[in-house]
Amino acid sequence: MKRLTFTFDNGPCPGATDRLLDFLAERRIKATFFVIGHLLADPDRRRLADRAKAEGHWIGNHTFSHATPLGVDGSPERVRHEIGDAQCQLGALSHPAKFFRPNGGGELGPHVLSGAAIDYLKEHRFTLVTWNSVPGDWKEPHEAWFARALADLDKDPWTVLVLHDEHIAQMTDLLERFCDELERRTIEIVQDFPAACVPIDRGRPGEGLSRLEPANAVR
Ligand SMILES: [Zn+2]
Repeated sequence: MKRLTFTFDNGPCPGATDRLLDFLAERRIKATFFVIGHLLADPDRRRLADRAKAEGHWIGNHTFSHATPLGVDGSPERVRHEIGDAQCQLGALSHPAKFFRPNGGGELGPHVLSGAAIDYLKEHRFTLVTWNSVPGDWKEPHEAWFARALADLDKDPWTVLVLHDEHIAQMTDLLERFCDELERRTIEIVQDFPAACVPIDRGRPGEGLSRLEPANAVR
């Protein structure tokens, strides 16, 4: 049976994450929210992350500031800030496997992580979680994510879909139709990740790490 994992990035966003959580509860779907560390300093946003965790979703680290990708500017100091300080912000919200997802405009490649970042993730036993479907819900026209996500379902036996709280929460009608389509195609919605999207598993190198490794590592 084919599978699909929902992930929601760049939150928490008041007015969006709450709507999305209502939707997921109604459909009995469990997902992972990759949150931006500095946003958690805002009590309203932290409350949303707390609610997500309480409702059975997993919370992952999506950098402290979501600024320049770590493969472009990834000195050891910046790595400690973007990964380590974000992890401190997450604190008890974090899944025990310490999920980390880098930012990089939806593309996977050496621009997402420096050598120092890969070393840091291994040393501090993070689990690096990537993706294989980024249908671009932030791009106009926003609704176009739907057709792209459906097309992506044919690519892999297990899809890890990246959507964004802020945008997808405005399109729960389409999300509803997407879930109906998954049912129609007997694609199972699961919460965990395929090995192909876990290049580092609790510090151990796994599948696909080599294509993220910089040719000239900054160490
Ligand atoms: Zn992001």
